[in-house]
Amino acid sequence: MSARFWQTPTSIPLTLQDITDLTEDQARMLLAEMRWGSTSEQMCPECSVVDSHYVRRARKQWECKHCRFSFSVTTRSPFADHKISCKKLVTAIFAFIIAQKGLPALELRRMIGGSYRTCYTLLHKIREALMMTMPEEKLNGTVEIDGGHFGGRYRKPRKKPDATVPEIPKKYQVQHRQKLPKMEFPHHPNRRLVIAMRQNDRAGQGAARTVVAVVRSENAADMEALVLRYIEKGAVVRSDELSAYGNLKYKGYVHETVNHSVEFSTDDGVNQNQAESYFSRLQRACIGIYHQMEPKYLLDYAIEMAWREDVRRKDTRTQLMLIGKRVLNAGVSRDWCGYSQGHKREAELLFAAIPPSE
Ligand SMILES: [Zn+2]
Repeated sequence: MSARFWQTPTSIPLTLQDITDLTEDQARMLLAEMRWGSTSEQMCPECSVVDSHYVRRARKQWECKHCRFSFSVTTRSPFADHKISCKKLVTAIFAFIIAQKGLPALELRRMIGGSYRTCYTLLHKIREALMMTMPEEKLNGTVEIDGGHFGGRYRKPRKKPDATVPEIPKKYQVQHRQKLPKMEFPHHPNRRLVIAMRQNDRAGQGAARTVVAVVRSENAADMEALVLRYIEKGAVVRSDELSAYGNLKYKGYVHETVNHSVEFSTDDGVNQNQAESYFSRLQRACIGIYHQMEPKYLLDYAIEMAWREDVRRKDTRTQLMLIGKRVLNAGVSRDWCGYSQGHKREAELLFAAIPPSE
């Protein structure tokens, strides 16, 4: 649990008040520090040379000493086409990191103003950038893997028909899983499975790193492909007793299982508590904050929650620097540039669609 960490005096070196007290120039320098890790040196987005480039004070830009390219702090970042001020941008990113269960676009709008759509795309650009910059390094040591259902659920019908109340539309009307044979219970069309893989911290402090993916079902082919792609050979993989994981021991992994219908943790301490703890956070975001997560964007929300879990014991300033480094260096947004002009993501992203970073 990280609740105790957040009660220590060192956990909040930076507050929302500090951000709102910044001047526009200070906010720009903070963004520069987040992006390049320094306030005096910048990396030219054109030729990638790191130097103290010429300052173009009037234009609030830098000019590359080597290729003469002029750039600002957001050039070729996901926020390149945003017209909002640096101060609002830092405020939005900071509000995003301090919201433990996620940040609704309408709530952000109450902080920085502007239109709902601006806030909505801004938050989605942060999520997309986290996805584009997932570390390539594979998980190792002890890794827990588990799946959780998200996205859509059928509603139960009223027990007695009531003529005064309108009927629930037919497509939402299938219920009571136990009373129907499995095949007659169709899944909600929006239901997907989020697979969480969490590497346990060697110091025993919960989980260290989280990788998530979205699949349609927990089948052997997908599970093996995921494990091979994200987990190093020789690692200890902990799962439930689902047959989809049965072949892992022949693929170069040490496979440990826990039977959830009997116990949460075996006598040897084999459990999936870290995976469960991730799902708990995603579930709360689903119930309390985002309400509806379309399959098209489910992976983005899942990755947002994975990031929140991974930095849960970092102070606010470190969190801001970490997210700034990833998000501002992620390049121009693929799916959210020109969203208002009708440019949208077309297909939903399943795990195979995750682009390799760098
Ligand atoms: Zn240059």
